[in-house]
Amino acid sequence: QAKAAGRDAIRFFTSEMNEQVQDRLMLEQALRHALGNGELSVAYQPQVSATTGQVIAAEALLRWTHPELGAISPARFIPLAEDLGLIERIGEWVLRTACEQALAWKVEGRPLRVAVNVSARQFRSANLPERVAAILEETRLDPALLELELTESMLMGKVDQAEEMLRRLKGLGVTIALDDFGTGYSSFAYIQHFPIDTLKVDQTFVRAMLTGKSAVAIVSAIIAVAHSLGMRVIAEGVEMEAQRNQLVELGCDELQGYLLGRPVPGAGFFAVGESGAAP
Ligand code: C2E
Ligand code: MG
Ligand code: MG
Ligand code: MG
Repeated sequence: QAKAAGRDAIRFFTSEMNEQVQDRLMLEQALRHALGNGELSVAYQPQVSATTGQVIAAEALLRWTHPELGAISPARFIPLAEDLGLIERIGEWVLRTACEQALAWKVEGRPLRVAVNVSARQFRSANLPERVAAILEETRLDPALLELELTESMLMGKVDQAEEMLRRLKGLGVTIALDDFGTGYSSFAYIQHFPIDTLKVDQTFVRAMLTGKSAVAIVSAIIAVAHSLGMRVIAEGVEMEAQRNQLVELGCDELQGYLLGRPVPGAGFFAVGESGAAP
């Protein structure tokens, strides 16, 4: 009887695996056509000054809405796009779209910095600075209004190569942010060698601040050291008033999170919203 149960478990397991493989294949196929079919869009989430509450920037976040499958999370399809070698083209499209949006806001008299996520594979391609330069030229956006978000893991490994890439990007006049800070294995001793303008404290710390004194101590230390190294600090995932108050008290420069505003389409960014997305 145990044997029969085992067989059933195996059959169940394999059919489930099969389903997963098929899901992935289907998603791959769909993703290959997503850009061409106009299924991709960019949402913008406000980054506000912790002291004045003013919206000073917006992070561009990629969205994929499949006609049948509905909204698919970037956490799911971006790694897939990397594997399939689609991320360069998609990443460039996001960059161009975000720069065009930032220019449109500027023309409307609301000059906002726009932050764009760069994937590991994009960061490794030697011609990234030329691609960024071309898009800045094409859209005529002031480079100072563009921030590129990288993660710690991209700076690990080939240090000289990463440093050279950052210098070339910085040479264009854009700023660099380190995303999800605190979740990787880097340290201040390590990142101080890189020309980083902005440090984004990961959501996990902001969440833990509500319940743990140690998380508050960690965030406080991150802010203090970042400031002493001349970096600006943004806290991610701010959802509650209590978090905002604590972060303001700790001297955090900017806040981002559902409390300040959810990611919304560019056209609706300055529309009056209930969650405070509108300045
Ligand atoms: P990220 O760059 O760290 O972006 C922040 C994520 O946190 C976004 O998820 C955002 O919607 C979410 N978020 C913002 N405020 C809150 C909050 O208060 N609470 C909670 N629980 N979440 C909040 P999203 O849009 O699903 O993106 C996930 C990740 O996908 C991003 O993390 C980024 O790593 C990646 N990603 C998104 N767009 C792009 C892109 O255009 N290119 C690349 N390479 N990666 C992207
Ligand atoms: Mg980001
Ligand atoms: Mg992040
Ligand atoms: Mg993240």
